[in-house]
Amino acid sequence: MQINQNYLNLKDSYLFTNIENRVKNFQQKHPNVKLIRMGIGDVTLPLADAVVHAMRKAVDEMGGASTFHGYSSERGYEFLRDSIKKYYLAKGVHLNLSEIFVSDGAKSDIGNVLDIFGRENTALIPDPVYPVYVDTNIMHGRRIEFLAGNEENEFLPLPDASMPADIIYLCSPNNPTGSVYNKEKLQVWVDYANKNDAIILFDAAYEIFVSDDNLPSSIFQIPGAENCAIEFGSFSKTAGFTGVRCGYTIVPENLKRKINGEFISLNKLWLRRQTTKFNGVSYITQRGADAALSEKGLAQIRENIGYYRQNAKIIADTLSELKIWFTGGRHSPYIWLRTNGMSSWEFFDFLLEKARLIGTPGAGFGECGEGFLRLSAFGDRENVRRGMRQFKEIINTL
Ligand SMILES: *Cc1c(COP(=O)(O)O)cnc(C)c1O
Repeated sequence: MQINQNYLNLKDSYLFTNIENRVKNFQQKHPNVKLIRMGIGDVTLPLADAVVHAMRKAVDEMGGASTFHGYSSERGYEFLRDSIKKYYLAKGVHLNLSEIFVSDGAKSDIGNVLDIFGRENTALIPDPVYPVYVDTNIMHGRRIEFLAGNEENEFLPLPDASMPADIIYLCSPNNPTGSVYNKEKLQVWVDYANKNDAIILFDAAYEIFVSDDNLPSSIFQIPGAENCAIEFGSFSKTAGFTGVRCGYTIVPENLKRKINGEFISLNKLWLRRQTTKFNGVSYITQRGADAALSEKGLAQIRENIGYYRQNAKIIADTLSELKIWFTGGRHSPYIWLRTNGMSSWEFFDFLLEKARLIGTPGAGFGECGEGFLRLSAFGDRENVRRGMRQFKEIINTL
């Protein structure tokens, strides 16, 4: 018996435990101080009415003999895939229903997709980064190269020809930095992947925050991407589904790789993987997700996104006023700011103790995150206002 020893190479992520310990410590000393949490990476607004309504109706259907549903079809119900197809059509992206795979969320798919890739590949991962990309590759024992995000490239690194890259991770709008690739930069990545026979795994979990039609919200808006990219979408941040669980993965029919003279379809491999190891998302959930993409649902979820976006603007405006360098906030719920000479954790403690504000230290997202801190706009408006007032006061004392 052998365990998968790759698991022993995982670094424990102390980020959120460490934050909680420091917060607990502070609260023991100051039990009456009300802290403002701006570190959360979870939505706070409830589900849209249209979604709740559709899910209630689906529950009733499940309780009736003639309307009951058992296992869903392989790639997800056609009604939902059809709505996703229309959602993409509005972005100018034409998808076939067979290219859309409904799942229980982007995180699972981002991890599971590695099943269809050889272990010998090198993964190219930007730093700072959503930790899932790193840990899932370590679990498979795959070689990882990190690509540095920094102030010079505004945390939007471009390919480096000297680095091997078979599987490339891109997340735009980015968590944690809030940065968004424009079409020209994303085209550079797509051309690079096509030239080098690499595959891009594109995490579009925050696509709905893109509020400028000139910025890409799907990699498939970039010519050539259908030959080199897989995209992950999620209802989590879009429609408040973090606790409901629904996402989708798009694997183009054109995505093929030649093995021993034969073209192998990655779409077929993913279908095989999913039908073997996954049995679909509940009917009730898929009805809810479908309602989120209806005309009424979209209007309601966009209103929620508008609320978070306004919070982000309050944060961004405060930082601009204080002349603090930052990325994000315009097309993202995250703001990534320079900690002005302090380390990420020093700045975290400084904010906690002096401004009674909780952020997320950038160093927790990778080496290149040192010297930065993430603030989240997923929260209550009044708290964000109060938080930024307190932030301004303590920065002005420096
Ligand atoms: C929140 C988030 C997701 C969404 O994951 P789900 O499993 O769909 O909830 C994916 N990628 C990033 C970068 C995220 O921050």
